[in-house]
Amino acid sequence: MQKRILVTGGAGFLGSHLCERLLKDGHDVLCVDNFFTGSRRNISHLLDNRNFELLRHDVTFPLYVEIDEIYNLACPASPIHYQFDPVQTTKTSVMGVINMLGLTKRVKARMLQASTSEVYGDPTIHPQPEEYWGNVNPIGYRSCYDEGKRCAETLVVDYIRQHKVAAKIVRIFNTYGPRMHPNDGRVVSNFVVQALSGKDITLYGDGSQTRSFCYVDDLIEAMVRMMATSHEMTGPINIGNPNEFTIRELGELVVQLTGSKSKLVFQPPPADDPKQRQPDISKAKGLLRWEPTIALRDGLIRTIGYFDDLLRRGDGPHEI
Ligand code: NAD
Ligand code: UDP
Ligand code: UDP
Repeated sequence: MQKRILVTGGAGFLGSHLCERLLKDGHDVLCVDNFFTGSRRNISHLLDNRNFELLRHDVTFPLYVEIDEIYNLACPASPIHYQFDPVQTTKTSVMGVINMLGLTKRVKARMLQASTSEVYGDPTIHPQPEEYWGNVNPIGYRSCYDEGKRCAETLVVDYIRQHKVAAKIVRIFNTYGPRMHPNDGRVVSNFVVQALSGKDITLYGDGSQTRSFCYVDDLIEAMVRMMATSHEMTGPINIGNPNEFTIRELGELVVQLTGSKSKLVFQPPPADDPKQRQPDISKAKGLLRWEPTIALRDGLIRTIGYFDDLLRRGDGPHEI
């Protein structure tokens, strides 16, 4: 059945892939974005589709539209961007989700909240199951993002309990792929751009910290599956790729796949940088019948292709 679906943050990295997928599935898509970190370029190929509509709007302000489903993705996601205006970051998560929950309630829609593995902070147990409450600094530089997303989760579950809205939470772990922001400082985009332009690959710390990287198409599949589950399945549910790599291994793989002459260099680690992060996806496997299918090497090859095109077009890194 064709639905009218709102995607907030739809001009961003994940949002643009989600809009594309929902259009492919035959739905009407309303993309809402204030273009803080997203760009028209990410969705330019969708603008001619008559099922696609774009609205420039900041989710911290109320939004009155008629829709069936909401994917709430609006929020800067990389440390450089969310620390640029930390107060606005918290407002986006907290006021944004209140507005989207108010909208969900009014039109009796269904909402999926994009939460994050950052709700676990610098975790003390590995891998992280959904039951783990996390280890988060409430007053650090990452807090505007971590605590904003934690408060958003609180609001989702309270609207479910108090107002009986149909809402769900997914906790997204590090995801990569085409249309990542070329200079948002995230490790995959940094390493690929550095390798393609022959610059040093910057390992923060000794490169022994780990992350598990999920390719964007796998992640979007899980989000769509979660939205389609019954009302009782509210989550939170972890989605991500459990294959863990050290940052050094990632750097070496990027150098190998690009055939670059770049060297790995060490730089001081950022504050509160989690040492290890790996999702426990048992719930997603059992309840969504989902697990990632795209290996890091294959996903990196596609991502390298995207950044290679971008750099050749002279559309490379730019200031925010
Ligand atoms: P992104 O920065 O590419 O996308 C975020 C989008 O939200 C951008 O288009 C931006 O312009 C928009 N936006 C920001 N503030 C807004 C506001 N006040 N009103 C309207 N639009 C606003 O980041 P992304 O990686 O695509 O992340 C999307 C969502 O997924 C975020 O909520 C993020 O927290 C979550 N997430 C992403 C990852 C990841 O690895 N990419 C991991 C965990 C969680
Ligand atoms: N809201 C919105 N669109 C709607 C309905 C509500 O943006 O279609 C906003 C509304 O401005 C309010 C928030 O969502 O600030 C929460 O709505 P709710 O009905 O829960 O609370 P109330 O309006 O009672 O504050
Ligand atoms: N990192 C790095 N070099 C870079 C960018 C990031 O070594 O050029 C490290 C960073 O310190 C962290 C890991 O890579 O340990 C992942 O960083 P990212 O910002 O991509 O994601 P997050 O820290 O939010 O998981």
